[in-house]
Amino acid sequence: MEGERKRLYVCCPGCSRRLCTAKENSDLEIECPKCGKVIKILVSSERKVITEIVKEQQKN
Ligand SMILES: [Zn+2]
Repeated sequence: MEGERKRLYVCCPGCSRRLCTAKENSDLEIECPKCGKVIKILVSSERKVITEIVKEQQKN
């Protein structure tokens, strides 16, 4: 069952994999398990999600 409040799902801006759920006023960094990018996630009090790639995985 889901809670009454709708959770915000944050997706990787690189590969669209769903990374995590977030609450309002969140500020976190998470590494995408699929593509290896480190994503900075900011969620405003208006539930607007901003994602920013802070580190790209180097590939040969
Ligand atoms: Zn990714």
